[in-house]
Amino acid sequence: MAVDFLSHLNPSQKQAVQHFCGPLLVIAGAGSGKTRALTYRIANLVLTHRVDPENILAVTFTNKAAREMKDRIERLFAEQQALTEYGQSLQSLPGHVQTKLRSQVYKSITKDLWIGTFHALCCRILRFDIEKFQDEKGRKWTKSFSIFDESDAQSLVKDIIINQLNIDDKKFDPRSVRYAISNAKNKGLTPRDYEREQSNFKGKVIANIYSVYQDKLAENNAVDFDDLIWIPVQLFRQNEQIRAYWHKRFRHILVDEYQDTNRTQYELLQLLTTNGESARSFKEWDYRSIFVVGDADQSIYSFRMADFTILMGFQQDFGDGLPDDDTRTMVKLEENYRSTENILQLANDLIENNTERIDKVLKPTRGQGEPTFCYRAQDEIDEAEFVIQQMRRLEAVNSDLHWGKFAILYRTNAQSRAFEEILVRWGVPYKIVGGLRFYDRKEIKDVLAYLRAIANPSDSLSLLRVINTPRRGVGKTTIEALQKAAIELGTPLWEILSDETSIKTLAGRSSKGVIQFVEIIQRWRAQIDTVSASELVQGVLEDSGYVRDLKAQGTDEAEDRLQNVQELYNAVLQYEEENEDDKSLIGFLASASLASDLDDTEEESTKVSLMTLHSSKGLEFPIVFLVGLEQGLFPSYRSLDDPAAIEEERRLCYVGITRAQERLFISHARERRLYGNREPASPSLFLGELPRELMDSNTKAAIPKKFTEKKPQSKPAPVLQSDVEWSVGDRVMHSQFGIGEVTNVFGSGSKATLAIRFDNLTGMKRKILPIGDR
Ligand code: ATP
Ligand code: MG
Repeated sequence: MAVDFLSHLNPSQKQAVQHFCGPLLVIAGAGSGKTRALTYRIANLVLTHRVDPENILAVTFTNKAAREMKDRIERLFAEQQALTEYGQSLQSLPGHVQTKLRSQVYKSITKDLWIGTFHALCCRILRFDIEKFQDEKGRKWTKSFSIFDESDAQSLVKDIIINQLNIDDKKFDPRSVRYAISNAKNKGLTPRDYEREQSNFKGKVIANIYSVYQDKLAENNAVDFDDLIWIPVQLFRQNEQIRAYWHKRFRHILVDEYQDTNRTQYELLQLLTTNGESARSFKEWDYRSIFVVGDADQSIYSFRMADFTILMGFQQDFGDGLPDDDTRTMVKLEENYRSTENILQLANDLIENNTERIDKVLKPTRGQGEPTFCYRAQDEIDEAEFVIQQMRRLEAVNSDLHWGKFAILYRTNAQSRAFEEILVRWGVPYKIVGGLRFYDRKEIKDVLAYLRAIANPSDSLSLLRVINTPRRGVGKTTIEALQKAAIELGTPLWEILSDETSIKTLAGRSSKGVIQFVEIIQRWRAQIDTVSASELVQGVLEDSGYVRDLKAQGTDEAEDRLQNVQELYNAVLQYEEENEDDKSLIGFLASASLASDLDDTEEESTKVSLMTLHSSKGLEFPIVFLVGLEQGLFPSYRSLDDPAAIEEERRLCYVGITRAQERLFISHARERRLYGNREPASPSLFLGELPRELMDSNTKAAIPKKFTEKKPQSKPAPVLQSDVEWSVGDRVMHSQFGIGEVTNVFGSGSKATLAIRFDNLTGMKRKILPIGDR
């Protein structure tokens, strides 16, 4: 059967899409159709190679991207189906019947595909297998485990520091301790491993907090976000049978945005793909594949331990260690389909200032386009005025431009305020992408706490959150007495609560309220397997008095909260529609915990999008305003003294520029009030790196000249040769390129590949040893 949809691709994309088995890296700049290639390849695996959708695992960066990918694949199937015999046989039927029958067929195909974020996919694996996992203290979790989101995890750490260990939270800031714990988990360090690594007092205290934190998670039958990925990794290492099951199941693994993968995620991929065996001697490549797409220039999540050297090492890790231009394991895409030539040139010129990179070609396909306009504003208010004026002007003269086609991108969330005020003033509809998550709102967390307490009896945190919400006369002293009893008896809080004699002794006058609460939880827990999630939610909302209480308050705020609770109910209904095979409460709770702040549910929006540059990854907009290009804001203050951090900020700027399709506007202000102080501001270093000839501006001073950086002093350096074990930081001498510093080592011995930053060159030069031309 001819696969027609391949005609939507260029020859390199086709090569990538038609790749069947073995490892393949697709490496290319922004907007070159990497995500498109990945999506089409899934369709091609099913349609051409007849791969069972069950055998495919695709990793996306957001849940929203996963949804879009599924929709796109369904449409590709539909296109294809119309050409088949089945499609023709449908043609005699009325149109609406045809559509219905077709959509049933595609849905049944995509239903079995596993597409989602690392977190969502791992959560699904854990819902099958978490009971087989044991941590280093021999503790186990059950399938009804709760997922503590970032704010739950933060409060838990804070509670441990202040209330359980009585440590001074000024010396041990809960946020940084939580960050340290998260980093430890991402490096694969258990509390014991972490403890062993600490040599000073501070480290030992954090190790102790980490250990208690793990105890608390286990007691609550809960996991945090890092665990979602790390537990499967540990489980696969512990239990060969389970690893083998998932290894066999996922024969074809695809990963988008591979440059932002961290070590644990990488290890998970290794275990799933190659058995943890060396990929070179791996015998199963004839019928399985790993396919990753990425762009090292868009690696912007190092603060979450993402490491783009993982992308650069792909061929060493999964291929057979041949040079990195080997077309058997790598495809480069060189055409950009997103942006005009002018925009692309700006992006290319900027990113060339990074030293830690491999040069890439990115050819425009969309014509020259208009120059980018750089506006130098007086302050943040003037900047916002400029943005709105441009938007209104463009919207008025172009009939095909609606508000949904504009995006304002900034470095920090705090910058949104000035824009929001002016958008409201002009009545322009907007949405903040990646703002406060719906699921982080107080009322939503309350309702979810009820549901979690019902699903997971060990989840004491949730029980405590709602035991007196709405008020039912259970005071602070009673709650403390109950908690204390649970700790002293070493039992979960629920066991104390569900014993009426204990309650009467411990709770005194509050007993009535506690007993009433326990009854609600018990009543619904008993029905968990027999009623749908939506019925259960509705029942709990009525029984608990939560809705009644909000209605009784009668304020505007309560009215807002009521609407949000209604929206949560809608979310449950939507979940049930989309997950016919798993309508359980636990399934819904997992999906709610994993809904990220980037998952805007609105379809085809007609509102201006406001978001941070980090949130904009993978997206595109016809018209982009990149604002606040000032030293200390973008690049951020914290990056100013650190060349590697400046490079990451520059990549972020590259991501921002390459979101634009037709028009790009850049702005910076001469002074700015941010976090309370009004300060003079100077233009960003990045502005000086953009080609002046491709830009217009309101004043000459808007685009500064390039800053001249001082080159590092060159010391005598050994000559680059193969019989030396090189390490990062070594100085080397190369006959052609001169003196440089090793910034990465991929592989070892004679097959090693070095990434070298040469003092006299811009752009990364990678050399493969042995070098004949020294
Ligand atoms: P990013 O690096 O920003 O994630 P990407 O490489 O994933 O970008 P895509 O989002 O897949 O790029 O594609 C960019 C745009 O180009 C999309 O609008 C896509 O539909 C379009 N596109 C991709 N390939 C082609 C093609 N062969 N012909 C025409 N348009 C294409
Ligand atoms: Mg993409």
